[in-house]
Amino acid sequence: MNKPKILILGAGYGGLTTTVKLQKKLGVNDAHITLVNKHDYHYEATWLHENAAGTLHHDRSRVKIKDLLNSSKVNFVQDTVVAIKPDEKKVELENDVLDYDYLVVALGFEAATFGIPGLIENAFTIGSINQARLIKQHIEYNFAMYNNEPEPKQERLNIVVGGGGFTGIEFLGEIANRIPQLCEEYDIDRSKVRIINVEGAPSILPGFDPQLIEYAMNSLESRGVEFKLGALLKECKPDGIVIEKDGELEEIPTVTTIWAAGVRANSLVEKSGLEHNRGKVEVKPDLRAPSHEDVFVVGDCALIWNKDNDRPYPPTAQIAMQEASVCAHNLAALVKGGELDNFEFNNMGTVASLGHGDAIGVILGDKKLFGWSASVMKKIIDNRSLFKIGGIGLVLKKGKFNIF
Ligand code: FAD
Ligand code: NAD
Repeated sequence: MNKPKILILGAGYGGLTTTVKLQKKLGVNDAHITLVNKHDYHYEATWLHENAAGTLHHDRSRVKIKDLLNSSKVNFVQDTVVAIKPDEKKVELENDVLDYDYLVVALGFEAATFGIPGLIENAFTIGSINQARLIKQHIEYNFAMYNNEPEPKQERLNIVVGGGGFTGIEFLGEIANRIPQLCEEYDIDRSKVRIINVEGAPSILPGFDPQLIEYAMNSLESRGVEFKLGALLKECKPDGIVIEKDGELEEIPTVTTIWAAGVRANSLVEKSGLEHNRGKVEVKPDLRAPSHEDVFVVGDCALIWNKDNDRPYPPTAQIAMQEASVCAHNLAALVKGGELDNFEFNNMGTVASLGHGDAIGVILGDKKLFGWSASVMKKIIDNRSLFKIGGIGLVLKKGKFNIF
């Protein structure tokens, strides 16, 4: 009998966890498993703000995919997906075309820019190792340039973060800690540097616990972060941004705008012909696409409704990894026979870093954490994620143990 072909696209939290779990469930003769990813490494997307700020080297956040796979069971292909053709059961890569019996789409997120003029051309986003490394180098370059021009340019020292959601706040925590080191290294007076957060809602982290929001704001303000709340970023130019607050426009000079104001699913999903809802596939309880029984969708490309508040679950690594467990189980059941499981989200809570040694979070339903204990919890969560894909060996190699 022909072995079914299982094709998994993307080696992030959703795709890699599915693959690692599936290789444990299936024998060598059960299926051909192929994993496709743009790079030969997996990165912890949840650590990228640290790499972007330069507080953690990017090699700590990535791991060679082949080191995590059983090569007798999984064929890894390093290539870029350019089109998904579910009606033809084919996926086009830059260098090949692959067919499948079962497909897993786990291609993650991209920045949502909402058509704001100049953002694509002039802003940076924190979405990959390449982007994070570029942000770090760009900030250092501008600090180095500052004392090399006859007329010092303030825009080189103004760092704007668009969006005060979790990504923006976590980056602010890291960059606020890094600025004093940069100032010392490049002989710049700290008081000349501005770190500005522009958030459209009346508060940062809209919808999060108000007491923890206040804690986060105080912590960041004490390290020099300025908040512009209820202010929408309207335009991004090469040397400045335009914001609108209370009907008034204001221009802030900067060559460094980090756009962290929302994400969308990888746009290949919208173009694929899979039935979608604003770019995401609203999956059935067993995580299959309603329009195509042979296609699973996990992670930020999938949309699952939270019946408790009648809103979609936010796209997180936490949900992506939980979906991957169910996806791997269901693929094994389809191949070997057995019942398919339905996905149920088990909310373990949310913890956001505010830079080394500081964090905020809510766990176990309503237990609030802040400061050092939240920071330790965040590191435990980060290490747990490594454990899930690479066991204790990977935790010992790349884990975070610097709790003091
Ligand atoms: P991803 O992790 O984005 O993986 C997608 C993979 O597909 C990547 O390896 C990518 O290289 C690959 N890929 C993309 N396009 C192609 C292509 N065309 N061809 C081939 N390969 C491709 N969530 C939490 O739960 N907790 C947190 O603390 C947290 N912190 C975050 C911090 C930051 C700075 C950011 C940006 C996000 C954070 N998130 C957090 C959200 C979380 O990172 C995402 O929800 C999660 O990464 C989604 O997992 P995924 O598998 O769908 O996609
Ligand atoms: P988000 O959608 O959570 O936040 C974006 C923020 O940008 C919102 O507060 C919004 O009001 C603001 N905004 C939108 N347009 C704007 C504009 N024009 N001007 C100013 N502000 C604007 O996006 P995110 O922070 O990138 O997070 C993406 C996902 O990743 C979320 O699901 C989040 O929960 C998850 N995440 C989780 C963690 C964590 O758990 N520690 C960390 C980072 C990200």
